[in-house]
Parts: sequence; C-alpha cells; structure tokens
Amino acid sequence: MNIILMGCPGAGKGTQSAKIQAVFNLKHISTGDVLRAEIASGSALGKEVKDLIAQGNLVPDGLMISILENIIKTATQGVILDGFPRTTAQAEALEKMLKGLGREISKVIMIDLPESEVIKRLSSRRLCKACGKISANPAEKVCVACGGELYTRADDTPESIKHRLEVYRRDTLPVINYYEHSGKFVKINGNQPVENVFKEIENSLEEVK
Ligand code: AMP
Repeated sequence: MNIILMGCPGAGKGTQSAKIQAVFNLKHISTGDVLRAEIASGSALGKEVKDLIAQGNLVPDGLMISILENIIKTATQGVILDGFPRTTAQAEALEKMLKGLGREISKVIMIDLPESEVIKRLSSRRLCKACGKISANPAEKVCVACGGELYTRADDTPESIKHRLEVYRRDTLPVINYYEHSGKFVKINGNQPVENVFKEIENSLEEVK
C-alpha cells in the first residue's frame, strides 16, 4: 500500500502519518523532515535549501524528485508520502518513478482545513527536537512524549506562514486536479479531533488494504 497524504501546512499530515505508520506498517516519508535533517547536519544540500525553506518557498522540483527517488527505491515496505508531491510536475514524476519500481499509489488522502484554523495552529505549534512530536499547547515546557526540548520551526513565522499558504494555493492545490478523478482520491475534514480524523483515514484505507 502506497499513500499520499495531502493538505495545507498545519493540516495534521505529520500527526496522522505517525498514526497510519503504526497501524498499517508503512514507511513514513516526510520530505520536510528530510530537508530539515539536511539543514541540521550542515550538509551541502542543507545549506542550499535553508533560506528557501525559512522563507516558505518550495525547493526546486528537480532536486526534490531526485531526493525522493533515492529514498523510495530503497523502501522495502509501502510508503506514506507526507509533503510530496507539492507540484503537478512532482506528481507526474512520482507516477513514472513508481511505475518503474512496479508500484502504484493506493490512495490519495487530502486533509482539509479552513485557513483561519491553519494560521492559528501554525502560529502556536512547537516541535520536539528529539522525537519530532508536535506540541500545540503553549503551556507545555517540554515534549509530553519524551521530555525533549521544544522548538519553533524557522518557517512558522507570520510572514513565512502567509507565503506558504500562497504557495500552497498556487502550486499544490492544482495537484488535487491531477488525482481527483483517479478513483483514489478522498477528502477528509481535518477540523475535528485527531482521533476522529484518523478514524476516517483508517476507514478509507481498509478498502485498499
Ligand atoms: P513541510 O514540513 O512538509 O511543511 O515542508 C517544509 C518545507 O520544506 C516546505 O515549505 C518547502 O520549503 C520544503 N519542501 C518540503 N517538501 C517539498 C516538496 N515536495 N517540494 C518542494 N519543497 C518542499
């Protein structure tokens, strides 16, 4: 089973991916996490993408596609793609890539959330440095899961959030057209408790398991 999880920044893709991964035994591939790890390691790639990401711009398609290809070709189990594809060119490349590996997309899940809620979530979220868990509660001093240090993402500033939403509308929303009539597309209301969102995702995945 290979799944694409779509949705604007802050829709809950990371949170839901962690849950899907545990229940369906899939490999979670977050292209944002991969890029942030490159930045943290100080690699040449990290240096190349650091400013683009902080400003809320997309990393160029060619680079992103080759990064994803390197990860996906070594995956021995099904995958959850979180944050890829973000452009129609990436969606086309992904289809070709999977075909070459004898795989195909099983489901495209879009987590839908009103923009007002997105801004509220992104403005208050922090992440754990150690385990990546998201904290939405400003009163929490450390990660509730592992006690790790919490930090604010470099691109969760008001200007960057605004720009990321513009980029999402311009470049990523059209990707929905690409999948909408594939018979694999499902839209889920993300403006409900995490467990309810997951229940809906789980139901839609049971059909293709
Ligand atoms: P995310 O953690 O998915 O919100 O991604 C954080 C940032 O990484 C994005 O705002 C982009 O700058 C970059 N990024 C992640 N995935 C992609 C992608 N598929 N294409 C281009 N840029 C990406």
